[in-house]
This record gives sequence, C-alpha cells and structure tokens, in this order.
Amino acid sequence: MQALDRCPACRARLGDASACPRCGSDFSMARLAERQSLALARVAVRELILGQTRQAAVAAQAACSLASPLLARAVLRMIRQRPS
Ligand SMILES: [Zn+2]
Repeated sequence: MQALDRCPACRARLGDASACPRCGSDFSMARLAERQSLALARVAVRELILGQTRQAAVAAQAACSLASPLLARAVLRMIRQRPS
C-alpha cells in the first residue's frame, strides 16, 4: 500500500489535506491510519536497534496492517534476512 498522494475518486493531488480539494472526499481516517502506521514503524526501528527482534517484528507487522509504510517493510525485510 502506498501513501495517499492522489484522491482515489478523482485523482486530484491531495498533498497533506485530509479532504480532496476537488471532489471533497474525506480521507481523515486514512490519514490517521497513515500516522499511526508510521508511529508503529518508528517503534519497530527502536526495538530493532535495542535488539528486541520479536517486538520489532510485531510492531512492523502492526504498521503494515494499517498502511504498510516503507520503513516498516524495511524492518521486516531486515529481520527476515538475519541469520537465525
Ligand atoms: Zn477527489
């Protein structure tokens, strides 16, 4: 899943707006999910740095269940590539 850059209804650029400037579609819940997902991805990075791999994986997977930010996917990729 990508960040919400364009309105899925009319393809207008959204920028950081929570409502489409062209058609008025409301994306406030999607924006909230993006913010929560990024916060979880940051938690995942912190846990990974602290050596808490399991907690990092849980946080990264939770982030991906909301919006799948690049940062969370990178954490999961790093965990999977580590020797077990
Ligand atoms: Zn629109």
